[in-house]
Amino acid sequence: MDRIDAIVSLAKRRGFVFPSSEIYGGSKSAWDYGPLGVELKENVRRAWWRSMVTFRDDVVGLDSAVILAPEVWAASGHLTEFVDPLTECQSCHKRYRADHLTDEHSARHGAAPASLTELTCANCGNRGTFSPPRNFNGLVRTSLGPVEDTSSMHYLRPETAQGIFVNFLNVMQSSRRKPPFGIAQVGKSFRNEITPGNFIFRTREFEQMELEFFVKPGEDEQWHDQWLAERWRWWTDLGLSERNLRRYEHPAAKLAHYAKRTVDIEYRFGFGGKDFDELEGVSNRSDFDLRTHSTASGTDLSYFDQENGERWFPYVIEPAAGLTRAVLAFLLEAYDVDKAPNTKGGMDSRTVMRFDPRLAPVKAAILPLSRNPQLSPKARGLATDLRRRWSVEFDDAGAIGRRYRRQDEIGTPYCVTVDFDTLSDNAVTVRDRDSMKQERVSLDHVEAYLLERLPG
Ligand code: ATP
Repeated sequence: MDRIDAIVSLAKRRGFVFPSSEIYGGSKSAWDYGPLGVELKENVRRAWWRSMVTFRDDVVGLDSAVILAPEVWAASGHLTEFVDPLTECQSCHKRYRADHLTDEHSARHGAAPASLTELTCANCGNRGTFSPPRNFNGLVRTSLGPVEDTSSMHYLRPETAQGIFVNFLNVMQSSRRKPPFGIAQVGKSFRNEITPGNFIFRTREFEQMELEFFVKPGEDEQWHDQWLAERWRWWTDLGLSERNLRRYEHPAAKLAHYAKRTVDIEYRFGFGGKDFDELEGVSNRSDFDLRTHSTASGTDLSYFDQENGERWFPYVIEPAAGLTRAVLAFLLEAYDVDKAPNTKGGMDSRTVMRFDPRLAPVKAAILPLSRNPQLSPKARGLATDLRRRWSVEFDDAGAIGRRYRRQDEIGTPYCVTVDFDTLSDNAVTVRDRDSMKQERVSLDHVEAYLLERLPG
């Protein structure tokens, strides 16, 4: 089975990610995060927030609204520029993004197609049936208020960034910051994607983790390089291997309307003939944002640099990552199948999610060897103690080997077995997920043992 199919099936079976509205047939627009998925996503979000906000003294956080004043999207350029080229197969009417079709063709054949007429529709197999691309705006619209007319038209944000720009003065003044400093935000974004798909990689409702870092013009290029290096370090530190990551420099001719330079960090998702796809975009947005919002709103968002007696619009360096897309990358990276000893002295294949312990949805599982009036209370007591610090599962149903497999499959770093010896030696067996090595640890030392091995 293909790696991605294995992940989709494991995600459903074990409660990471479910198709949204599944009982009504599901929707590709969005997915729902189950009990383990919500923990994993929260752990990724927390790791990002800690590295971007908590551990730094030059970044502060924000949680702005999803629905902003419509004027924001006019000034930002989204009403006119946030468009994708839509093409449709004239034979089966399946719609595609024309740029995705040409990218996939280039990845497969090493050269771009001369035109869409060279391409075959993946849905019906007909060749050369694509309509000329036309621009399609990706903003999701909604109507607010009791009367539906042009004045009630609003948009769900397609990125969290604009909520940061329009709060630039509020944040700078209230938190007494001056450039270089940044504002970070994590939250939902919405895009009317032409072709949502590839599981949670591309959806119409998703979550982003964005930093807008404001710097003095002239210092922007150096900060851009610094943030690129910092973001690369973050992904690899949490377990993405360097061979599955690469940088993609946007050619000058294809840069977005606001960008001076953009470098994507791409991950080897392995979809549709393409090896790598975008995980995070790190952009130098120039002074486009604060300048255009100043002109459009009439509020001056420039900065007066008292030291030099100069007024300037800060340049913005933007590392913009997808949170839900990050969850997919970490799921793919963690997935492994190896061999584990079975009770008959042979080896069985086991599926193991090798999450970094910081990301693992469950940190430890407490497993009494059997359901027993003496073992169960001891095991439950231990689980209650450890739950004050970590997310812990208690499981006393079925054979111990099968319970280990279940925990391996959800990536639990440690299994703690309470057995009959525990009643005399007051110790338990701690099993390591990756090495499967077991160690005897005294009950009152279990918390310290885990503390040493589970980074905060
Ligand atoms: P793409 O080229 O894949 O459409 P983009 O270049 O439009 O992405 P950005 O606007 O740079 O994406 O958004 C920043 C990040 O937000 C992306 O790197 C990605 O991780 C995430 N993201 C963007 N669109 C989606 C989506 N439809 N579903 C899930 N994540 C998304």
